[in-house]
Amino acid sequence: ATPTALMVGTGRGAQLGILIKGPEVLESTRRVDTVVLDKTGTVTTGRMELQEVHAAPGTDEALLLRLAGAVEHASEHPVARAVAAGAAGRTGPLPAVDGFHSLPGLGVRGVVDGHEVLVGREALLAGSGIGLPPALAGARAAAEAGGRTAVLVAWDGAARGVLGVADAVKETSAEAVALLRGLGLTPVLLTGDNRAVAESVARAVGIAPDDVYAEVLPEDKADVVRRLRARGGGVAMVGDGVNDAAALAAADLGLAMGTGADAAIEAGDLTLVRGDLRVAADAILLSRRTLGTIR
Ligand code: ADP
Ligand code: MG
Repeated sequence: ATPTALMVGTGRGAQLGILIKGPEVLESTRRVDTVVLDKTGTVTTGRMELQEVHAAPGTDEALLLRLAGAVEHASEHPVARAVAAGAAGRTGPLPAVDGFHSLPGLGVRGVVDGHEVLVGREALLAGSGIGLPPALAGARAAAEAGGRTAVLVAWDGAARGVLGVADAVKETSAEAVALLRGLGLTPVLLTGDNRAVAESVARAVGIAPDDVYAEVLPEDKADVVRRLRARGGGVAMVGDGVNDAAALAAADLGLAMGTGADAAIEAGDLTLVRGDLRVAADAILLSRRTLGTIR
């Protein structure tokens, strides 16, 4: 690769809204045949909304919202923001939280009004030996069947409610997936969210169920990328979250959403400034063209 051609490619990238870490990055796209897409904030807007509230029998709904909202208020996760905003909107200002703890890919924990509160996935509750009573298991299944992320709430050792949270698929995501396929690439969806939600998003954008990796913990996202690389082709990864940083670094080419977390942007090889997934296809096309002028 001549330095001049790579510099020209880099400059053209800036015009398209692609910030490239260094000219050598373009070289790493040569073998890419698989593009791994993070779900939340990458394929979807990440602007989640609290859409349903199910309190366990005997649990006060307003209390459920206050306690869950208070702990989530301390987290920056898109799910957490939706829970905190939805709770505050329905019940008013939220109480303070003590001893806040975030468990990436699982949820959060904290003490509110003297109660030890857990908010997150079933695995988070299970880690504290808390199971779901049948009424809440039913509410969770209904939320997930409807494509919503079920957020479980427990305090003082018992599950107390299920919250349903959802966000919208970005308008440009289906077109982006089609553009990537047009370049001969296989798009894959990777998420920590549950399988039902992941498959409903995959269906909306044109990704096959076999190419959906769901319920993957943050520390395992990079392993999925490594396993896909082991199939022999090159792997690009597009992500926006702190949870995607290791996977972005593990990929042959890491593309960070400019709208995402700083940790993702630092881990990526290039940044899609406007957070438009279609530009991922532009970036790969640009690299191919740039390399093409050299050989
Ligand atoms: P994604 O891979 O789609 O970007 P994450 O790995 O960040 O998602 O999170 C995976 C799942 O863990 C979320 O879908 C949610 O169910 C749960 N989760 C993570 N953080 C929180 C939180 N602060 N509150 C509630 N649930 C959470
Ligand atoms: Mg994300």
